[in-house]
Amino acid sequence: MQYRRLGKTELMVSEIGLGAEWLERHDYEECKAVIGRAEEAGINILDCWMPGPEVRSNIGKAIAGKRERWYIQGHIGSTWQNGQYTRTRDAEKCRAAFEDLLARLGTDYIDLGMIHYIDREEDWDKAMHGPFLDYVMELKEKGVIRHIGMSTHNPEMAIRAAETGFVEMVLFSVNPAFDLMPPIDDLEIYFGDSYDPSLAGIDPVRVRMYQTLEQHDVGITCMKPYAGGRLFDAERSPFGAALTPVQCIHYCLTRPGVAAVMAGYDTPAHVDAAVAYETASDAEKDYASVLAAAPHHRFGAECTYCGHCKPCPVNIDIAMVNKLSDLASIQPEVPASVREHYNALPVKADACIACRGCESRCPFGVKIADRMARTAALFA
Ligand code: SF4
Ligand code: SF4
Repeated sequence: MQYRRLGKTELMVSEIGLGAEWLERHDYEECKAVIGRAEEAGINILDCWMPGPEVRSNIGKAIAGKRERWYIQGHIGSTWQNGQYTRTRDAEKCRAAFEDLLARLGTDYIDLGMIHYIDREEDWDKAMHGPFLDYVMELKEKGVIRHIGMSTHNPEMAIRAAETGFVEMVLFSVNPAFDLMPPIDDLEIYFGDSYDPSLAGIDPVRVRMYQTLEQHDVGITCMKPYAGGRLFDAERSPFGAALTPVQCIHYCLTRPGVAAVMAGYDTPAHVDAAVAYETASDAEKDYASVLAAAPHHRFGAECTYCGHCKPCPVNIDIAMVNKLSDLASIQPEVPASVREHYNALPVKADACIACRGCESRCPFGVKIADRMARTAALFA
């Protein structure tokens, strides 16, 4: 298992995580089997957003005696009222629900205290001013939560979160289908039967979101990496072409700032299908060829950082150079942190000999040699 730094939290999290949502539909023995397989594979980050008492208790029982090996994302604002999930900013209801989470997980701290699910402007206003935020800050001051995070499906809210300065990481819905979409505040639209036919490639606001979060050193953990499974089925995928779990995970892990993919698992076999990423070949990870040739919403012209263009005869890490170049160009001046990363590259863009061998391997038709020349000038 590879581990990645989760932005300014400095936590080293497994790049494959455990999104525990699907455990809601399983009994204790089944939960234990999934969690046990995740532990064997080296997974060390777990998201528990669910307010249901049973699943919380089952997870707590399954990790009993092993609490310290897990980084837990626990949500503030997800409550259980009248036997069902209710999202609220009522501080007292959130307090009761969060104390219930601690008790059922058998712990007195949560590594990543998540401000739960803000997709709308009016909800931002309710959550980020007043008693709800006071409660989050109280938890942080007392050390009950070690870091503050936020979950959202709206890139504009993720950008705002990064700009607060106190949100250290974001749980965001990442997959190539959702990345097509402009900012929306209704989750159901992402799962709609059809998207606007003109959509192609990553929406510019999402590009800006990835760049802004990386610029603020706000790490990302990804939810919905498979878009609810529809990306596995050419009939249901908006691309009209199927991807595998490994390809979906590779898409997430090649976005800037992403540290972990919180896939959901019903069975130990589902854990194995995700963990197969760790030993997959470049050909097995290759989502780029599928998206570049898809019958609908074909990606094109922009670098997706897929790495498909390797090898380079002078050993330029083309995907990384392009990523740093994009990060640098959203600012009037190259930010010092980006320059530092660029300077640390063993081979830089100015080494490009314009052989253009990489361009024939780029499925998106990126003019790589021209980009290398522009990048060399940018960092000169
Ligand atoms: S230049 Fe093309 S092949 Fe290379 S990382 Fe970017 S999109 Fe992928
Ligand atoms: S064009 Fe430049 S970046 Fe591409 S393979 Fe040749 S030397 Fe490497």
